[in-house]
Amino acid sequence: QYILGIETSCDETAVAIIKNGTEIISNVVASQIESHKRFGGVVPEIASRHHVEQFTIVLEEAMTNAKLTFAEIDAIAVTKGPGLVGALLIGVNAAKALAFAHQIPLIGVHHIAGHIYANRLLKEFKFPVLSLVVSGGHTELVLMKEHGHFEVIGETLDDAAGEAYDKVARTLKMPYPGGPHIDRLAHQGNPSIDLPRAWMEGTYHFSFSGLKSAVINTLHNADQKGISIDPKDLAASFQQSVIEVLVTKTERAAKEYNVQQVLLAGGVAANKGLRKALEETFTNEKEIELVIPPLSLCTDNAAMIAAAGSILFEKGVRGKLDMNAYPGLELTSI
Ligand code: ATP
Ligand code: MG
Ligand code: FE
Repeated sequence: QYILGIETSCDETAVAIIKNGTEIISNVVASQIESHKRFGGVVPEIASRHHVEQFTIVLEEAMTNAKLTFAEIDAIAVTKGPGLVGALLIGVNAAKALAFAHQIPLIGVHHIAGHIYANRLLKEFKFPVLSLVVSGGHTELVLMKEHGHFEVIGETLDDAAGEAYDKVARTLKMPYPGGPHIDRLAHQGNPSIDLPRAWMEGTYHFSFSGLKSAVINTLHNADQKGISIDPKDLAASFQQSVIEVLVTKTERAAKEYNVQQVLLAGGVAANKGLRKALEETFTNEKEIELVIPPLSLCTDNAAMIAAAGSILFEKGVRGKLDMNAYPGLELTSI
Protein backbone atom coordinates (compact mmCIF):
# COMPACT_ATOMS: atom_id res chain seq x y z
CA GLN A 1 0.00 0.00 0.00
CA TYR A 2 1.46 3.33 -1.12
CA ILE A 3 0.01 6.61 0.20
CA LEU A 4 1.05 9.95 -1.24
CA GLY A 5 0.86 12.75 1.34
CA ILE A 6 0.52 16.48 0.65
CA GLU A 7 1.02 19.25 3.25
CA THR A 8 0.66 23.00 2.57
CA SER A 9 -1.10 24.30 5.70
CA CYS A 10 1.49 26.92 6.60
CA ASP A 11 4.92 27.72 5.24
CA GLU A 12 6.20 24.30 4.20
CA THR A 13 5.38 22.81 0.79
CA ALA A 14 5.71 19.07 1.34
CA VAL A 15 5.05 15.84 -0.53
CA ALA A 16 5.90 12.35 0.72
CA ILE A 17 5.18 8.73 -0.13
CA ILE A 18 4.96 6.05 2.53
CA LYS A 19 4.57 2.30 2.25
CA ASN A 20 2.21 0.22 4.43
CA GLY A 21 1.55 3.11 6.80
CA THR A 22 4.96 3.16 8.44
CA GLU A 23 7.82 3.14 5.94
CA ILE A 24 9.01 6.40 4.37
CA ILE A 25 9.79 5.97 0.66
CA SER A 26 10.31 9.66 -0.09
CA ASN A 27 9.85 12.81 1.97
CA VAL A 28 10.43 16.22 0.37
CA VAL A 29 9.97 19.52 2.22
CA ALA A 30 10.47 22.98 0.70
CA SER A 31 10.61 25.54 3.48
CA GLN A 32 9.73 29.20 2.92
CA ILE A 33 11.32 30.46 6.11
CA GLU A 34 13.78 32.70 4.23
CA SER A 35 10.93 34.56 2.48
CA HIS A 36 8.99 35.22 5.69
CA LYS A 37 11.96 36.06 7.93
CA ARG A 38 12.13 39.76 7.08
CA PHE A 39 8.47 40.13 8.09
CA GLY A 40 9.04 38.40 11.44
CA GLY A 41 6.36 35.80 10.76
CA VAL A 42 4.43 33.98 8.06
CA VAL A 43 2.70 36.28 5.56
CA PRO A 44 -0.34 34.35 4.25
CA GLU A 45 -0.33 35.75 0.68
CA ILE A 46 3.37 35.03 0.28
CA ALA A 47 2.88 31.51 1.64
CA SER A 48 0.14 30.74 -0.92
CA ARG A 49 2.22 32.07 -3.80
CA HIS A 50 5.21 29.97 -2.77
CA HIS A 51 3.07 26.84 -2.56
CA VAL A 52 1.87 27.42 -6.13
CA GLU A 53 5.44 27.91 -7.34
CA GLN A 54 6.94 25.00 -5.42
CA PHE A 55 4.25 22.33 -5.56
CA THR A 56 4.99 20.63 -8.89
CA ILE A 57 8.74 20.72 -8.23
CA VAL A 58 8.31 19.11 -4.81
CA LEU A 59 5.84 16.53 -6.19
CA GLU A 60 8.18 15.57 -9.02
CA GLU A 61 11.09 15.16 -6.66
CA ALA A 62 9.03 12.98 -4.30
CA MET A 63 7.87 10.75 -7.17
CA THR A 64 11.38 10.51 -8.65
CA ASN A 65 12.93 9.62 -5.28
CA ALA A 66 10.28 6.95 -4.74
CA LYS A 67 10.72 5.53 -8.26
CA LEU A 68 6.96 5.07 -8.48
CA THR A 69 4.27 5.97 -11.02
CA PHE A 70 0.78 7.22 -10.13
CA ALA A 71 -0.62 3.83 -11.15
CA GLU A 72 1.10 2.41 -8.05
CA ILE A 73 -0.30 4.99 -5.59
CA ASP A 74 -3.30 3.70 -3.59
CA ALA A 75 -4.50 7.00 -2.16
CA ILE A 76 -3.67 10.70 -1.93
CA ALA A 77 -3.82 12.13 1.61
CA VAL A 78 -3.91 15.91 1.97
CA THR A 79 -4.07 18.33 4.91
CA LYS A 80 -7.57 19.87 4.74
CA GLY A 81 -7.15 21.95 7.97
CA PRO A 82 -6.44 23.65 10.25
CA GLY A 83 -4.08 26.28 8.83
CA LEU A 84 -3.99 29.29 6.52
CA VAL A 85 -6.94 28.99 4.17
CA GLY A 86 -5.11 30.15 1.04
CA ALA A 87 -2.18 27.86 1.76
CA LEU A 88 -4.42 24.86 2.50
CA LEU A 89 -6.36 25.42 -0.74
CA ILE A 90 -3.23 24.99 -2.86
CA GLY A 91 -2.64 21.51 -1.42
CA VAL A 92 -6.30 20.51 -1.46
CA ASN A 93 -6.76 21.57 -5.08
CA ALA A 94 -3.54 19.88 -6.17
CA ALA A 95 -4.67 16.69 -4.42
CA LYS A 96 -8.10 16.84 -6.05
CA ALA A 97 -6.58 17.38 -9.50
CA LEU A 98 -4.20 14.42 -9.06
CA ALA A 99 -6.94 12.19 -7.64
CA PHE A 100 -9.25 13.04 -10.56
CA ALA A 101 -6.61 12.75 -13.29
CA HIS A 102 -5.26 9.41 -12.07
CA GLN A 103 -8.50 8.05 -10.59
CA ILE A 104 -6.96 7.60 -7.12
CA PRO A 105 -8.95 7.82 -3.84
CA LEU A 106 -8.63 11.16 -2.02
CA ILE A 107 -8.39 11.45 1.78
CA GLY A 108 -8.57 14.65 3.85
CA VAL A 109 -6.34 14.72 6.93
CA HIS A 110 -6.34 16.89 10.07
CA HIS A 111 -2.93 18.56 10.39
CA ILE A 112 -2.63 17.73 14.10
CA ALA A 113 -3.61 14.10 13.51
CA GLY A 114 -0.67 14.18 11.10
CA HIS A 115 1.71 15.54 13.77
CA ILE A 116 0.57 12.73 16.11
CA TYR A 117 0.89 10.03 13.43
CA ALA A 118 4.47 11.11 12.67
CA ASN A 119 5.19 8.85 15.65
CA ARG A 120 3.78 5.79 13.89
CA LEU A 121 6.64 6.10 11.37
CA LEU A 122 8.82 5.04 14.34
CA LYS A 123 6.70 2.83 16.60
CA GLU A 124 3.38 0.98 16.33
CA PHE A 125 0.80 2.57 18.64
CA LYS A 126 -0.10 0.73 21.86
CA PHE A 127 -3.40 2.06 23.20
CA PRO A 128 -4.28 3.99 25.22
CA VAL A 129 -1.88 6.55 23.81
CA LEU A 130 -1.30 10.08 25.13
CA SER A 131 0.17 12.71 22.79
CA LEU A 132 1.71 15.98 23.87
CA VAL A 133 1.13 18.21 20.85
CA VAL A 134 3.27 21.35 20.95
CA SER A 135 3.45 23.39 17.77
CA GLY A 136 3.23 26.89 16.39
CA GLY A 137 -0.56 27.00 16.67
CA HIS A 138 -1.44 24.24 19.13
CA THR A 139 -0.59 23.03 22.62
CA GLU A 140 -2.72 20.12 23.73
CA LEU A 141 -2.84 16.74 25.39
CA VAL A 142 -4.65 14.24 23.19
CA LEU A 143 -5.83 10.84 24.39
CA MET A 144 -6.38 8.02 21.89
CA LYS A 145 -8.01 4.69 22.70
CA GLU A 146 -7.94 3.47 19.11
CA HIS A 147 -6.73 4.59 15.69
CA GLY A 148 -8.49 7.68 14.37
CA HIS A 149 -10.12 8.42 17.73
CA PHE A 150 -8.95 11.65 19.38
CA GLU A 151 -9.97 13.13 22.71
CA VAL A 152 -8.46 16.51 23.61
CA ILE A 153 -8.16 16.36 27.41
CA GLY A 154 -6.43 19.74 27.74
CA GLU A 155 -5.37 22.63 25.55
CA THR A 156 -3.96 26.12 25.71
CA LEU A 157 -6.43 28.84 26.56
CA ASP A 158 -4.31 31.53 24.90
CA ASP A 159 -0.91 31.26 23.18
CA ALA A 160 0.52 28.00 21.85
CA ALA A 161 3.95 27.02 23.17
CA GLY A 162 5.59 27.66 19.78
CA GLU A 163 3.88 31.03 19.54
CA ALA A 164 5.26 31.98 22.99
CA TYR A 165 8.75 30.92 21.87
CA ASP A 166 8.47 33.01 18.72
CA LYS A 167 7.18 36.08 20.58
CA VAL A 168 9.88 35.87 23.27
CA ALA A 169 12.49 35.47 20.54
CA ARG A 170 11.15 38.55 18.81
CA THR A 171 11.43 40.52 22.06
CA LEU A 172 15.05 39.39 22.27
CA LYS A 173 15.50 40.57 18.64
CA MET A 174 16.11 37.10 17.24
CA PRO A 175 14.94 36.04 13.78
CA TYR A 176 11.77 34.08 12.98
CA PRO A 177 11.11 31.29 13.82
CA GLY A 178 12.56 31.95 17.24
CA GLY A 179 12.06 28.55 18.89
CA PRO A 180 15.39 27.03 17.85
CA HIS A 181 17.28 30.23 18.76
CA ILE A 182 15.79 30.38 22.27
CA ASP A 183 16.51 26.67 22.67
CA ARG A 184 20.19 27.20 21.79
CA LEU A 185 20.49 30.29 24.01
CA ALA A 186 18.76 28.53 26.91
CA HIS A 187 21.46 25.86 26.98
CA GLN A 188 24.14 28.52 27.47
CA GLY A 189 22.39 30.28 30.34
CA ASN A 190 21.15 29.69 33.89
CA PRO A 191 17.45 29.67 34.80
CA SER A 192 18.14 32.30 37.47
CA ILE A 193 15.29 34.70 36.67
CA ASP A 194 12.03 34.14 38.50
CA LEU A 195 9.20 33.64 35.98
CA PRO A 196 5.64 32.38 36.57
CA ARG A 197 4.18 28.96 35.77
CA ALA A 198 0.51 28.79 34.80
CA TRP A 199 -0.66 25.56 36.41
CA MET A 200 -4.39 25.95 35.63
CA GLU A 201 -5.00 23.85 38.75
CA GLY A 202 -7.24 20.84 38.42
CA THR A 203 -7.19 20.86 34.61
CA TYR A 204 -4.96 19.73 31.78
CA HIS A 205 -5.23 23.15 30.16
CA PHE A 206 -2.29 25.42 29.45
CA SER A 207 -1.66 29.15 29.31
CA PHE A 208 1.51 30.81 28.06
CA SER A 209 0.57 34.45 27.50
CA GLY A 210 1.24 35.40 31.15
CA LEU A 211 4.71 33.92 30.92
CA LYS A 212 5.36 35.77 27.67
CA SER A 213 4.25 39.07 29.28
CA ALA A 214 6.46 38.37 32.32
CA VAL A 215 9.48 38.02 30.02
CA ILE A 216 8.65 41.29 28.27
CA ASN A 217 8.10 43.06 31.63
CA THR A 218 11.35 41.72 33.04
CA LEU A 219 13.26 43.19 30.11
CA HIS A 220 11.34 46.47 30.26
CA ASN A 221 11.84 46.92 34.02
CA ALA A 222 15.53 46.14 33.81
CA ASP A 223 15.84 48.64 30.98
CA GLN A 224 14.16 51.38 33.06
CA LYS A 225 16.43 50.71 36.01
CA GLY A 226 19.48 50.58 33.78
CA ILE A 227 20.21 46.99 34.77
CA SER A 228 21.38 44.60 32.08
CA ILE A 229 19.83 41.17 31.80
CA ASP A 230 21.68 38.32 30.16
CA PRO A 231 19.45 37.06 27.33
CA LYS A 232 20.91 33.58 27.90
CA ASP A 233 19.58 33.52 31.46
CA LEU A 234 16.23 34.89 30.38
CA ALA A 235 15.94 32.25 27.64
CA ALA A 236 16.93 29.52 30.12
CA SER A 237 14.38 30.73 32.66
CA PHE A 238 11.61 30.96 30.05
CA GLN A 239 12.40 27.53 28.67
CA GLN A 240 12.44 26.01 32.16
CA SER A 241 9.00 27.42 32.91
CA VAL A 242 7.51 26.07 29.66
CA ILE A 243 9.08 22.63 30.04
CA GLU A 244 8.18 22.24 33.71
CA VAL A 245 4.48 22.78 33.02
CA LEU A 246 4.40 20.63 29.86
CA VAL A 247 6.23 17.70 31.42
CA THR A 248 4.40 17.77 34.77
CA LYS A 249 0.98 17.77 33.11
CA THR A 250 1.96 15.09 30.60
CA GLU A 251 3.21 12.82 33.38
CA ARG A 252 0.07 13.38 35.48
CA ALA A 253 -2.26 12.66 32.54
CA ALA A 254 -0.27 9.60 31.48
CA LYS A 255 -0.75 8.11 34.95
CA GLU A 256 -4.39 9.12 35.35
CA TYR A 257 -5.37 7.58 32.02
CA ASN A 258 -3.09 4.55 32.42
CA VAL A 259 -1.57 5.02 29.00
CA GLN A 260 0.90 2.59 27.46
CA GLN A 261 2.62 5.20 25.31
CA VAL A 262 3.40 8.90 25.42
CA LEU A 263 4.07 10.51 22.04
CA LEU A 264 5.65 13.90 21.42
CA ALA A 265 4.35 15.83 18.42
CA GLY A 266 4.60 19.22 16.67
CA GLY A 267 7.37 21.68 15.87
CA VAL A 268 8.26 22.44 19.51
CA ALA A 269 8.98 18.70 19.89
CA ALA A 270 12.30 19.65 18.27
CA ASN A 271 13.19 21.44 21.53
CA LYS A 272 16.25 19.81 23.07
CA GLY A 273 15.35 20.76 26.62
CA LEU A 274 11.83 19.35 26.30
CA ARG A 275 13.06 16.10 24.75
CA LYS A 276 15.60 15.65 27.55
CA ALA A 277 13.11 16.45 30.33
CA LEU A 278 10.57 13.96 28.96
CA GLU A 279 13.24 11.28 28.58
CA GLU A 280 14.37 11.80 32.18
CA THR A 281 10.79 11.68 33.46
CA PHE A 282 9.71 8.58 31.60
CA THR A 283 12.85 6.41 31.98
CA ASN A 284 11.59 5.65 35.49
CA GLU A 285 8.11 4.77 34.24
CA LYS A 286 8.61 1.17 33.20
CA GLU A 287 4.94 0.80 32.20
CA ILE A 288 4.95 3.77 29.82
CA GLU A 289 6.87 3.91 26.55
CA LEU A 290 8.00 7.37 25.40
CA VAL A 291 8.26 7.99 21.64
CA ILE A 292 9.99 11.09 20.30
CA PRO A 293 10.28 11.61 16.52
CA PRO A 294 13.51 12.79 14.85
CA LEU A 295 13.60 16.55 14.22
CA SER A 296 12.65 16.22 10.55
CA LEU A 297 9.35 14.58 11.52
CA CYS A 298 8.55 17.10 14.29
CA THR A 299 8.23 20.16 12.06
CA ASP A 300 5.71 20.21 9.19
CA ASN A 301 6.16 17.44 6.62
CA ALA A 302 3.98 15.29 4.39
CA ALA A 303 5.13 11.87 5.61
CA MET A 304 3.08 12.46 8.78
CA ILE A 305 0.02 13.38 6.67
CA ALA A 306 0.45 10.17 4.65
CA ALA A 307 0.83 8.19 7.91
CA ALA A 308 -2.49 9.51 9.26
CA GLY A 309 -4.02 9.09 5.79
CA SER A 310 -3.00 5.45 5.71
CA ILE A 311 -5.08 4.71 8.82
CA LEU A 312 -8.08 6.54 7.34
CA PHE A 313 -7.62 4.62 4.09
CA GLU A 314 -7.78 1.33 5.98
CA LYS A 315 -10.89 2.51 7.83
CA GLY A 316 -12.53 3.11 4.44
CA VAL A 317 -12.63 6.90 4.77
CA ARG A 318 -12.75 8.60 1.35
CA GLY A 319 -12.92 12.29 0.51
CA LYS A 320 -14.94 13.69 -2.35
CA LEU A 321 -13.75 15.82 -5.23
CA ASP A 322 -15.66 18.78 -3.79
CA MET A 323 -13.41 18.74 -0.68
CA ASN A 324 -12.79 22.18 0.80
CA ALA A 325 -10.09 23.64 3.07
CA TYR A 326 -11.08 24.17 6.71
CA PRO A 327 -8.85 26.77 8.45
CA GLY A 328 -10.39 26.17 11.92
CA LEU A 329 -10.95 22.41 11.68
CA GLU A 330 -11.43 20.70 15.10
CA LEU A 331 -9.60 17.48 15.98
CA THR A 332 -12.53 15.08 16.20
CA SER A 333 -12.87 11.38 15.71
CA ILE A 334 -13.37 9.70 12.39
P1 ATP B 1 0.39 23.96 13.77
O1 ATP B 1 1.05 22.65 13.60
O2 ATP B 1 -0.16 24.20 15.15
O3 ATP B 1 -0.57 24.28 12.69
P2 ATP B 1 2.79 25.05 12.65
O4 ATP B 1 2.59 23.96 11.66
O5 ATP B 1 3.10 26.43 12.19
O6 ATP B 1 1.52 25.09 13.63
P3 ATP B 1 5.02 23.57 13.41
O7 ATP B 1 5.64 23.72 12.06
O8 ATP B 1 4.54 22.27 13.84
O9 ATP B 1 3.89 24.66 13.64
O10 ATP B 1 6.07 24.15 14.47
C1 ATP B 1 6.65 25.41 14.31
C2 ATP B 1 6.92 25.97 15.69
O11 ATP B 1 7.89 25.17 16.35
C3 ATP B 1 7.47 27.39 15.66
O12 ATP B 1 6.74 28.15 16.61
C4 ATP B 1 8.92 27.22 16.10
O13 ATP B 1 9.47 28.31 16.78
C5 ATP B 1 8.80 26.02 17.00
N1 ATP B 1 10.10 25.33 17.17
C6 ATP B 1 10.86 24.71 16.24
N2 ATP B 1 12.00 24.24 16.79
C7 ATP B 1 11.95 24.56 18.11
C8 ATP B 1 12.83 24.37 19.24
N3 ATP B 1 14.00 23.74 19.10
N4 ATP B 1 12.43 24.83 20.44
C9 ATP B 1 11.24 25.46 20.59
N5 ATP B 1 10.39 25.68 19.58
C10 ATP B 1 10.74 25.24 18.37
MG1 MG C 1 6.04 25.78 9.64
FE1 FE D 1 2.35 21.90 12.14
